[in-house]
Amino acid sequence: MKWYQMDVDRVEQKLHVTTNRGLSAKKVDERRKQFGLNVLETEKNTSKWLIFLKQFQDFMVLVLLAATLIAGLLGEYVDAIAIMVIVLVNGFIGFFQEQKAEKSLSKLKELSAPVANVLRDSEWSKIPSHELVVGDVVRINSGDRISADLRIVKSNSLETEESALTGESLPVMKHATAISKDQLDPQDQVNMGFMGTLVTRGSATGIVVGTGMNTVMGQIASLMVKTKKSVTPLEYKLAELGKILIVLALFLTALVVGIGVYQGHPVYNMFLAGVSLAVAAIPEGLPAIVTVALSLGVQRMIKKKAIVRKLSAVETLGCASVICSDKTGTMTENQMTVKEVYINGQYLYVSGDGYDIRGDYFLNKTKVDRAYPHLESMLLYGMLCNNSSLQVKKGKYLVDGDPTEGALLVAARKMGLSPTDDEQYKVIKEIPFDSDRKRMSVIVEDENKRRFIITKGAPDVLLPRSSFFLDDSGRKLLRAEDKKGIDEAINKMAEKALRTIAIGMKPISKNDSIDPISIEKDLTFIGLYGMMDPPRKEVKTAIKECKEAGIKTVMITGDHEKTARAIAINLDLLPSEGLVLDGYQLNQMSVTELRDIIERVYVFARVTPEHKLKIVQAFQEKGHIVAMTGDGVNDAPAIKASNIGISMGRSGTDVTKEASSLILMDDNFATIKAAIKEGRNIYENIRKFIRYLLASNVGEILVMLFAMLLALPLPLVPVQILWVNLVTDGLPAMALGLDKSEENVMKQGPRNPREGIFARGLGFKIISRGILIGLVTLIAFMLTYQNNPDNLIYGQTVAFTTLVMAQLIHVFDCRCENTVFSRNPFENMYLIFAVISSLLLLLIVIYWEPLQPIFHTTFLGVRDWMFILVLSALPTVLFGFTKK
Ligand code: ATP
Repeated sequence: MKWYQMDVDRVEQKLHVTTNRGLSAKKVDERRKQFGLNVLETEKNTSKWLIFLKQFQDFMVLVLLAATLIAGLLGEYVDAIAIMVIVLVNGFIGFFQEQKAEKSLSKLKELSAPVANVLRDSEWSKIPSHELVVGDVVRINSGDRISADLRIVKSNSLETEESALTGESLPVMKHATAISKDQLDPQDQVNMGFMGTLVTRGSATGIVVGTGMNTVMGQIASLMVKTKKSVTPLEYKLAELGKILIVLALFLTALVVGIGVYQGHPVYNMFLAGVSLAVAAIPEGLPAIVTVALSLGVQRMIKKKAIVRKLSAVETLGCASVICSDKTGTMTENQMTVKEVYINGQYLYVSGDGYDIRGDYFLNKTKVDRAYPHLESMLLYGMLCNNSSLQVKKGKYLVDGDPTEGALLVAARKMGLSPTDDEQYKVIKEIPFDSDRKRMSVIVEDENKRRFIITKGAPDVLLPRSSFFLDDSGRKLLRAEDKKGIDEAINKMAEKALRTIAIGMKPISKNDSIDPISIEKDLTFIGLYGMMDPPRKEVKTAIKECKEAGIKTVMITGDHEKTARAIAINLDLLPSEGLVLDGYQLNQMSVTELRDIIERVYVFARVTPEHKLKIVQAFQEKGHIVAMTGDGVNDAPAIKASNIGISMGRSGTDVTKEASSLILMDDNFATIKAAIKEGRNIYENIRKFIRYLLASNVGEILVMLFAMLLALPLPLVPVQILWVNLVTDGLPAMALGLDKSEENVMKQGPRNPREGIFARGLGFKIISRGILIGLVTLIAFMLTYQNNPDNLIYGQTVAFTTLVMAQLIHVFDCRCENTVFSRNPFENMYLIFAVISSLLLLLIVIYWEPLQPIFHTTFLGVRDWMFILVLSALPTVLFGFTKK
């Protein structure tokens, strides 16, 4: 017998579980030991050895190793071993960098891994989906991706989309009744939920019947192709640039070797020097360092509560020019409190804060009690048409479920209704809330088996569906003038920034169809709730900072236009000339029409998720880079279409998280700003070390080229060149990747996404500093060598030290877009540490006697150092006085 053929009791019996208690911790443990984790085994890890060996697969490194081997065979042991060691150390550094990047990426994966809502030992909790075991009782909601195979035991209008499994993209209705037929395909097993499929509507409870490779998805998992590692646009651009630079470096190296041989240097010496130079000058590691910088930046973002799902988003973040943000929960706390109730044509004020159930109702400052007409029924209906519950933790009331619904429970408790007051009613059916319908209904049956429907929702959606209303004297026909009165009340509440919810009901008979279109009409309007949702404290400043950074903030909300406007004004988001558009106006406009006015719009109210897509498109047509937030299932298309899709870590659904490139762990708007700032900074840091590395390389090549042109001996020997490449290019470059942002990073407009790597003067900076570094090294060598023609090693030591020092000073210049004097060099302690360690290594190579023959160095005196320092500071100091 298959799971879908068994009735629920049978499934429970077989798996030794009851639906209302779930498994015990002990059973979970046993089953995990027996069946393992709930994961699909589709990816194999690359072995560490392979990653290590990969560091040496570069063509020029192989040539260098071969050349060194020949040198060793010819008896040049010292040089050969020194070069080998340097190459090996270089390999290790590359390996560790890659490991680090890999680790932070897998940590990211863990953070954004899906969770499941599971009942164990009678308590609901959220656990990582891979910890599910067979027999677990789980709850699934609209927007979830189902994480194991389930037998549905209770369905609330559940619909799932199973295209991942069956290719069929139309949603399938699911129920809980057993099916007697045999040999059913997955798509016909309509009481099962399958791993990897999506909940598009409703909710359900299910028992896990298959995990990991024992699911229907697991059976086809072996057919799934492993997703390729994606390359970010910047990594791609750099890889392309790298190819050009390789050719250029090889050409220049060949030139150095050619001229050297022509000038009479021994071919073998020139060959080894040439290959070393090529290895040093080719920025083969650039894309790798970029990945490291990106992933380190991503780790910093995690600390600021932003999880980046796609590395490429880090680059795009810096270009964002518009943030379209949901209001509820992102700009506001999503902590709803009913402050006013409109009933019988009168306003009642409700005291109390947050979810605390202490509070009273007042009519014109006089306390009212349950005897006030219809109030008790209204509050009871609010409790019945409700999926949330109130919990007390550490003496504080918390809402489990939708805060809007939680607020209704609190409002009822303030009037003395008890949590069990709704137990005499049975909910027969629920027509769920979604942001498109903006309403929710339940059909309930009382003790006398009388049925009625209760609908609550946005007032402007509910009123057109109402034909009656209640006042002190009872039910009356709802005429145009009565509607006008209610509309006024809605406006009044909304102008006070209150979120409004209307509630209505209608008696029905058992035979009435429960189709939402025919049943949610001719309602009796009972009253309005006005609830307060305070803005998050930090949002106002964040919006201001975004404005200074040239980023426009746009509020998008399902709430009433007036509520949205009031909150937007409160947050300083809506300038006096700014427009507020609502969903009805949006419906009348084409994308092009919207595009033409969109620069003036700051708030979109009463929108449905479909409108969001239109908004993204209109902004994009205006050339904007759009960041768009979303939480519900229907937000996914807009999130996908935007340049930076942002989803909510707490309230977001799996579907939106999967579509997004950034997840806000705290659902907070201010986190978007922090992420954009970090994104801008990471890009600037990448520019900084590209500048540093390439200028260093230009310097290294030029000093050799100039020396050969002037018929001088080699100013640097191969080990020295490789040492420079290893030490000065390694640590300081990494430290630049960790640099703090410049103060003005959020005071400039967003970066143009089409700008090239060398934009904003970077190319000039690289070439100009590179030439100067080459020149001062050459001058240092020439002057020393001319005065001591028989002590070549002395000249080479001076040249080597000057080159290293010039680079170590120049690294501070690379931190600044303006002049080097504009920033405090001690801000970046990593850099200070990197420079001091490079310096120490330099001193060891110069002064530790056993190393001198290996590195072709000799002692330097105080006067040498003064001479070296003056020369090596020149490239940085000279440009410090210009602003270029
Ligand atoms: P955003 O998150 O985009 O700022 P929102 O979450 O406020 O918007 P929706 O959740 O789509 O927007 O709500 C729109 C309207 O639907 C609300 O103003 C309210 O009147 C009504 N509404 C909200 N939640 C419920 C609910 N649980 N049941 C019935 N009606 C609701």
